[in-house]
Amino acid sequence: DGEDLFCIGCGAQIQTTDQTAPGYTPKSALEKGLASGELYCQRCFRLRHYNEIVPVGLTDDDFLRLLTQIQDANALIVYVVDIFDFNGSIIPGLHRFVGDNPVLLVGNKEDLLPQSLKRSKLRDWLRQRANEQGLRPVDVALLSAKTNHSVDQFLQKVDKYRGDRDVYIVGVTNVGKSTLINQIIRQNTGARDVITTSRFPGTTLDKIEIPLGDDHVLVDTPGIIHQSQMAHFLTGKDLKIVAPQKQIKPKVYQLNDQQTIFLAGVARFDYVSGPKHGFTIFVENNLPLHRTKLANADEFYDKHVGDLLTPPNSADNDLPPLTRHEFKITEKSDLVFEGLGWITVPAGTVVAGYAPAGVGVVVRKAMI
Ligand code: GDP
Repeated sequence: DGEDLFCIGCGAQIQTTDQTAPGYTPKSALEKGLASGELYCQRCFRLRHYNEIVPVGLTDDDFLRLLTQIQDANALIVYVVDIFDFNGSIIPGLHRFVGDNPVLLVGNKEDLLPQSLKRSKLRDWLRQRANEQGLRPVDVALLSAKTNHSVDQFLQKVDKYRGDRDVYIVGVTNVGKSTLINQIIRQNTGARDVITTSRFPGTTLDKIEIPLGDDHVLVDTPGIIHQSQMAHFLTGKDLKIVAPQKQIKPKVYQLNDQQTIFLAGVARFDYVSGPKHGFTIFVENNLPLHRTKLANADEFYDKHVGDLLTPPNSADNDLPPLTRHEFKITEKSDLVFEGLGWITVPAGTVVAGYAPAGVGVVVRKAMI
């Protein structure tokens, strides 16, 4: 059962039970690997054979150890966030571990945001959000790892700021870190040059090193799992429906107070009090939206969840119950449903956001 067996790529202990943890190997591959005398975990196998990095999850303790390593390194830290899910991208306490190391902030998934949104404004906005976390990035790069947009410019920035240092790429899972690393490998090196043998001392973590041309390397670190992301509450199929795939076309709803909008069956917005106003919704273009009177909303949900309001796909689903969060809005803000999107709300209103218990609902300064 994989006990006392180790991946010859990364050194992680082989296990066959948890696909998201280090050392995972499907049972069938384990037998083949043993027979051939070349036993790789699934992650290293894919890297070797398909030039592809598979994300791996970390426990909080592992992650703390990883951050401590970064603290001791002399490195440029590339901090990758998902601009569509900034709150879900935050690495708690990162600022305490960066020390004197410069941080390059990377806003990924630029392709999802409307073209009309000025990129310089977006960079400023990202910088402000980083400052709120106690980070002072030397620069902010916007890119799309998926479409390869601005990846070259990002690599130029890396060269500019790293000087005589290694580069550590950090990010929580789902921000697109693996997609970005795969782009870099495809463009700049071959899989052959990538080193997977080193690991974080004292842990089972593998790190992946990509040579940068001089004696220095780019290090891919495993991503911490951010439990409040919507991604952890939905099945793969439902996640495809709620997670934006293409550039978002914002939708404006003119609402009177005491009206409700359902975002499929996974979230709900109540306009509690304030004057008639336009509310702009930024979610996956095909996510079904339904307007009702607030007074009827509970009943409407109970009746229609799983049919009119999908996902989820049935009334008896595993989704935690929707939980209410009320906010008094004093400046133009975004009411964010983590991982799902946001609604821009005007000053002088009271609103409530609902999401499955455990998924964050927060208010931030409006992006647009
Ligand atoms: P990781 O966990 O941070 O390594 O994230 P992945 O690279 O596995 O990506 C998570 C999800 O985000 C996948 O569904 C990717 O297809 C998607 N993704 C990654 N980069 C981009 C991007 O630039 N734009 C968009 N729209 N999606 C992206």
